Amino acid sequence: MIQLVRGFKDILPPETAVWRHVENTAREHFEKFGFREMRPPVLEQTALFQRSIGEHTDIVEKEMYTFAGSRDTMLTLRPEATASVVRAYIQHKLYAADPVCKFYTIGPMFRRERPQKGRYRQFHQINAEVFGIDSPYIDVQLIFMLMTYFSRLSVTGLSVHLNSLGCPECRPAYRQKLSEMLSDRTGDLCEDCVRRLEKNPLRVLDCKKEPCRNAVSDAPSMLDFLCGDCRSHFRAVQAALDAIDIPYEIDPRLVRGLDYYTRTAFEIQTEELGAQNAVAGGGRYDNLVEMLGGPSQPAIGFAIGADRLVELVETKIPAPEPGPVIFLAPMGEAAMELAAKWACLLSDAGVRTEADFSGRSLKALMRRADRLGAENVLIVGDREIEQNEAILRNMKTRDQKSLPMDRLVESVLEHEG
Ligand code: ATP
Ligand code: MG
Repeated sequence: MIQLVRGFKDILPPETAVWRHVENTAREHFEKFGFREMRPPVLEQTALFQRSIGEHTDIVEKEMYTFAGSRDTMLTLRPEATASVVRAYIQHKLYAADPVCKFYTIGPMFRRERPQKGRYRQFHQINAEVFGIDSPYIDVQLIFMLMTYFSRLSVTGLSVHLNSLGCPECRPAYRQKLSEMLSDRTGDLCEDCVRRLEKNPLRVLDCKKEPCRNAVSDAPSMLDFLCGDCRSHFRAVQAALDAIDIPYEIDPRLVRGLDYYTRTAFEIQTEELGAQNAVAGGGRYDNLVEMLGGPSQPAIGFAIGADRLVELVETKIPAPEPGPVIFLAPMGEAAMELAAKWACLLSDAGVRTEADFSGRSLKALMRRADRLGAENVLIVGDREIEQNEAILRNMKTRDQKSLPMDRLVESVLEHEG
């Protein structure tokens, strides 16, 4: 038997209902904040991710699903959504009418990571991106929208972790300082971090391995290096979060796995999922639009890990699996022919209907109706056909009612309406 590819998963009912709930709630909630849905493709030119995420990141160095396209272009299954949204914003000149644009996207991402609990090779993100606003108030609005979204889903026990990554003005000095400090400790770092140290020392702060975490525990903080503008931006974000009663923790070690971030960076963590505790991450990327060939427009966004979110929601709201409103139990060939037609017409009229064509005994059919959680069973056999009356039995109250067969669909609709 051919099995599922490792690191991939099937999302099956009844879990699908939780996914739909999570996605529909995002749509409804985000649209109230002025976001519109964009659906970029899952395939892009590899260069897009190399240039945006950065050459010296785990994602680009070793996690992308890349293959040759036509001619000389290399193609990659998207490992994240922001790059595509930025590409679309530039390519379709979405900034022309008004540079302020707010988009959300929902869909699968692909990273060849080591599969483990909460970490898949195809996973799903719900993203939101805002272009054209550099005010710290939009940072806070975005975090507010994210946290109230989680509340709507009754997910609790989340905390906001906040940092500022500075800008190209102030980050180089910090990078230099960090790099100097870590150079003395290469013996304590993992192989990956020794390499990171050379190309991208900030990434060492993000390593999840214990020895590396210890090695950076007393590392200098970016916050001590912020330039005046970055510092006042960060202060304003904190004041506005306080004003709207969103608690947060400042975490000077928080960096993100992608190079394009500037200033505000944040992560939403849960206590409930063990090692894979980040449910969402985001931040500003004020230079990315220009870096990818667009106009100079600031931007900020976040990505929610939908797989992890669904896990949290599932423990709160078990997936509702409603049974059929009408379960048709026909006995005999003639009854089955009638039931086939009624099942079609009733479903089309909006009544959840299931018909059993197995030809088994009434007792067997009743058992199945019960198992499916049917609200009513409609019984029809030769005797009922002769008397032109089908029997509608309510499975809860056990009440029975005769319905005229020539007006069967209408009668059921009146009864259920
Ligand atoms: P992590 O620190 O868990 O590796 P990340 O920093 O790589 O996360 P982002 O690229 O910021 O994650 O993506 C945002 C969110 O997407 C994460 O917070 C997480 O919930 C989710 N996510 C990322 N990678 C995976 C994966 N391989 N499987 C499932 N969810 C993932
Ligand atoms: Mg990661």
